[in-house]
Amino acid sequence: MPRKEHAISRRQISDNAIKVLYRLHKSGFKAYLVGGGVRDILLGLQPKDFDVVTNATPEEIKRLFRNCRLVGRRFRLAHIVFGRDVIEVATLRGHHVDSGEKISKTNESGRLLRDNVYGNIDEDAERRDFTINALYYDISDFSIHSYGGGLQDLASRTIRLIGDPQTRYREDPVRMLRAVRFATKLDMTIEAKAAEPIKGLAGLLKDIPAARMYEEVLKLFFAGKAQQNFDMMREFGLFEPLFPMVESLLNEYPNGETSKLMQEMMANTDERVAQDKPVTPAFFYAALLWYPLVQRADDIALESGLSSYDAYNAAMGDVMEQQCRTISIPRRFSTVTKDIWQLQLRFDRNKGTKAFRFIEHPKFRAAYDLLLLRAHAEGGNVAKSAAWWKSFVEGSEDQRNVIARSANKGGRNRNSNQRRRRKPKAKPASKPAE
Ligand code: ATP
Ligand code: MG
Repeated sequence: MPRKEHAISRRQISDNAIKVLYRLHKSGFKAYLVGGGVRDILLGLQPKDFDVVTNATPEEIKRLFRNCRLVGRRFRLAHIVFGRDVIEVATLRGHHVDSGEKISKTNESGRLLRDNVYGNIDEDAERRDFTINALYYDISDFSIHSYGGGLQDLASRTIRLIGDPQTRYREDPVRMLRAVRFATKLDMTIEAKAAEPIKGLAGLLKDIPAARMYEEVLKLFFAGKAQQNFDMMREFGLFEPLFPMVESLLNEYPNGETSKLMQEMMANTDERVAQDKPVTPAFFYAALLWYPLVQRADDIALESGLSSYDAYNAAMGDVMEQQCRTISIPRRFSTVTKDIWQLQLRFDRNKGTKAFRFIEHPKFRAAYDLLLLRAHAEGGNVAKSAAWWKSFVEGSEDQRNVIARSANKGGRNRNSNQRRRRKPKAKPASKPAE
């Protein structure tokens, strides 16, 4: 599609991406903007990032740019670094059928382990996931190259895989998650042929390296479409391989606490993203894994006879370790997740004058937010406790003094501690405080 028939102008592309495209072009190489950048501009959206492809090899790219870093094994890529902005430059990929193991490799289930065969633009297009992502903006004449009907699919809002869906999902099971993510992000429909095999192949996600999964989960839940992605992933059986502990509770109690907490948490996350408020994986995982943690703590207490406090601590480690087998949560977040869990125990014990110190804790706010979610999901004593804390948190200095003193007079702290010792098996954090 020539320049005069489409709406992409150079002004909509970042200066850094334009610089990279021109440097490649002027050095005699082909250079295209590709994928999400082209797709999103055509849809009238602001692209998240700009990806470039060229027929220059990574080594040739490195020679052209001083600010270039070569990265990746599965896909060898060049990163051109402009301060905090990074333009990803890939070399056009070719077919990998007859090539030796050194440059391309698949495992028994058909998953591509290495993929560094270079080719031309037609071959490169066939290797992309969806037709709407196989759009190339050519810097030499400002035309758009579309493959497999990408431009038509963009107009009819269809997510269509390039090639045979089964094969393409087996090559890279993450494409199933990407289908869901683009459907919700772009408000498109996954074509029937691409939707049909997902349920049967969802289990292949279990083999994806946990570090890559971590990145994919961020894209699914921190980009403003958490609720829709959650619902759709469950519908397609894609939630289970990622979060087996959560899925088993959702399955067992379809309208239970876990389900209520999930819905509320996803909606809150989307609202925060919409308002440009920060969202953190630490809180996300604390809420997501809350009921698996409670259940695990109960089981440990029952099996081992440990005190509820010790069982709870052991369960925190267990649940986190089990989740990290599928999704590697960086330690800087998982330690905060555990802090948030640990602090849930203090809501019952620290009513009264101790509350003044508790609310100064750096993670109080996150812990309190989880308490509110639990209160909505469970009602009952947790809701009562949450209501006490809400009035304390939102009260003026004077009101706080009155609230704290009346709690102390009622002897809440002593009572709840005594009961804790007598009934070690009870859920520690949902302890009533009469
Ligand atoms: P966004 O950046 O908005 O998430 P995107 O389409 O740019 O969307 P990226 O992950 O940045 O997605 O990938 C850039 C391009 O690389 C895609 O548009 C697609 O053409 C190709 N691509 C990415 N991941 C895959 C994959 N798993 N299989 C095949 N092609 C892929
Ligand atoms: Mg992108």
